[in-house]
Amino acid sequence: EIFPGDFSGNPAQRQTPNFFFALTEIYGFKKAMLLHFNENLAKEIGLGSIENQEDKDFLNATQLPENLKTFSTAYAGHQFGQWAGQLGDGRAIYAGEIQNSEGKFTEIQWKGAGATPYSRHADGRAVLRSSIREYLMSEAMFHLGIPTTRALSLSLTGEKVARDVMYNGNVDFEQGAVVIRTSETFLRFGHFELLAARNELDTLQKLADFTIENYFPEIDKNSTDKYLEFFKKAGEKTADMIVEWIRVGFTHGVMNTDNMSIIGNTIDYGPFSFLDEYNLNFTSNTTDLPGRRYAFGKQAHIAHWNLIQLANALFPLIKDEAALEKILIDYSEMFWKKHDEMMAKKFGFEKLERYDADFFTSWQKLMEEISTDYTLFFNQLETLEEGLDIVEHFKKSFYQNLNKEHETLVIEFVENYRQRLSNNQISREESRKLMQKTNPKFVLRNYLLYDCIAEMEEGKTELFDKLWNALQKPYEEIYPEFSVKRPEKYEGVVGCSS
Ligand code: AMP
Ligand code: MG
Ligand code: MG
Repeated sequence: EIFPGDFSGNPAQRQTPNFFFALTEIYGFKKAMLLHFNENLAKEIGLGSIENQEDKDFLNATQLPENLKTFSTAYAGHQFGQWAGQLGDGRAIYAGEIQNSEGKFTEIQWKGAGATPYSRHADGRAVLRSSIREYLMSEAMFHLGIPTTRALSLSLTGEKVARDVMYNGNVDFEQGAVVIRTSETFLRFGHFELLAARNELDTLQKLADFTIENYFPEIDKNSTDKYLEFFKKAGEKTADMIVEWIRVGFTHGVMNTDNMSIIGNTIDYGPFSFLDEYNLNFTSNTTDLPGRRYAFGKQAHIAHWNLIQLANALFPLIKDEAALEKILIDYSEMFWKKHDEMMAKKFGFEKLERYDADFFTSWQKLMEEISTDYTLFFNQLETLEEGLDIVEHFKKSFYQNLNKEHETLVIEFVENYRQRLSNNQISREESRKLMQKTNPKFVLRNYLLYDCIAEMEEGKTELFDKLWNALQKPYEEIYPEFSVKRPEKYEGVVGCSS
């Protein structure tokens, strides 16, 4: 069944002044099929396991309980540095929130269940390819210990969805899919930007109060500084998230302000990628060329730029330019301190020393001179022993053959590293343990997703199941075949959203 383009219940695309959400009906997929269900997450959030067809119908967005009022929200944002006006949940529809036995609330959304008033010119659908990417990657990030939205279920919708127009003008149809994703909240910088841009200051204040009360309990809600404090805390959470991305080599790919969670969750998995070879200029998003605004090494800077937009949005509540400016200026120092402390752990240093800046620079020089796998390099650094052939030991992490100068560079780096390690107060064994906790052995590389998608499109689940296992324990080596650098034939393979 091909999605017809319009159907009863499809809300007209529109601006919604004075409202930042709209009740949004779900069309209901008649031939949907559940592909995967995240049992552990279901338990955690208080949902329990699948018991009957009704439960499946809910996950598949086939038929919903009658009393359920589904909705979508409006937000705005800066996309690629430009103000983009009203955007919103174009293909995300909220089921509401659920409370677990400990009282914790979790919001639930279908992604790809159909158009909303905020879909603009798009269809509100998602294809299998992008849904697999989101489903696996958000869980991979969670198990790496990184703040993120999560994924509860993955279903085929039974529809065909039009995507790329091919060179000959024919439309390429792909299998439609829907993912249920969860988060403590899906609120974004863009929600605040929308209300500020519309000068709906009462609503802006209500939203800020709601956000503080629910997601920033550490802030005294009776304090006169609470909005400033809120901005500062949101900045800290954002910094923590970016430092964590850098730790594992994650490139988000579309850090528009509408894709920035107010609680510092990684959100909106589209053209993301882990680094294979370390490269600050790496961008995982083909539409980000040639500017490379969202390159791996620019994420700290872009987060700061996005926080400036958030500061503008919150200004009417704070009205203190100097105080906001101070937070934004202090941000860089705060960020780089967190960053350097994280890097020290990657190298197994129990604490950051002033002279480590030079050490990090020498490491970066090595990584830039020799095309080196980011993940494998740190794994090899951890297993480095006295007396072994250094160049040989690191060989599995290099994407190129080494000449004499390269070899000298590696050997000098290791000498330098051993020198630095000898200043540690902790033993080599403890240092290793620190490295094992900080440096993953498994990252969900883009080429693995690429192969997994190709198999899933033919109905084969073997690689999917393996990746699902591997990503639950990323600090262990479960499948040795995943502990290798990207095979040559996958060079240049990119992932995309849709
Ligand atoms: P993104 O850059 O992927 O986060 O998307 C930017 C905006 O486009 C958001 O408001 C999305 O909700 C919307 N959008 C993306 N894909 C679709 C789609 N297939 N149908 C409707 N809206 C979409
Ligand atoms: Mg039940
Ligand atoms: Mg988005």
